[in-house]
Amino acid sequence: MIDVHCHLEQSDYDEDREEVISKCKEELLAIITSCANPKDFDKSLELIKKYKNFVFLTAGFHPEFISKFSRDEIREYLEKIEKNRNNLVGIGECGLDYYWIKDQKLREEQKKLFIEHINLAKKLDLPLIVHCRDAAEECLKIIIEQKPKKVLLHFFSDKNLIQKVIENQYFVSINTSIFRSKNIKKITKKMKIERLMTETDSPWLGFGKRNTPISVKFVIEKIAEIKKLDFSAVDKITTENAIKFFNLSN
Ligand SMILES: [Zn+2]
Repeated sequence: MIDVHCHLEQSDYDEDREEVISKCKEELLAIITSCANPKDFDKSLELIKKYKNFVFLTAGFHPEFISKFSRDEIREYLEKIEKNRNNLVGIGECGLDYYWIKDQKLREEQKKLFIEHINLAKKLDLPLIVHCRDAAEECLKIIIEQKPKKVLLHFFSDKNLIQKVIENQYFVSINTSIFRSKNIKKITKKMKIERLMTETDSPWLGFGKRNTPISVKFVIEKIAEIKKLDFSAVDKITTENAIKFFNLSN
């Protein structure tokens, strides 16, 4: 089992991070933590050094924070990401968030920044991890035009666009929202298991309490039920998908 998308640097874990990660080690093969905010980058780097070969890192600028940082601050952050290429297994999460950002100018900024992330992923030969909320059509349009090599759509829930995702051979990571969202259930049903991965987005999506990467096992259970497969088959294939996609075996 691998959690391909969570946020272990969040202060929700400050009290007991060590304990949480050691419990994860008993059941999971790896965790990929996602740094989405320039302020979290150093703390994220410490984590992957401390838990080498178990916790891996992707980094990008979350579109939701577009109004909170200056262009210069974002540029510096992207340069820092580039310098740390060897500490990373992917670029993201990055993308478009029209749920939190309604201002048209800021949305245009998000698009520009998204393209910068795609270029960075190409330049550094790293996979791209995409966040899109209420902006799936626009997001896919940009990805299809810009042609990054490997794409993982994190928390993708627009079932009407799933055919485009399948045609372009993008990956989708499924989290505990599968228990609540009909769209995500439908997406899980339609996508080939060879294109699915598991994530938690923890500490979020814990339905009232703090979530941890251990929850991927419930996600695997649910995928198995929907796809009428054994738990072990879903576990094996989604784990292999993640290892190959993020090149974790090196
Ligand atoms: Zn996230």
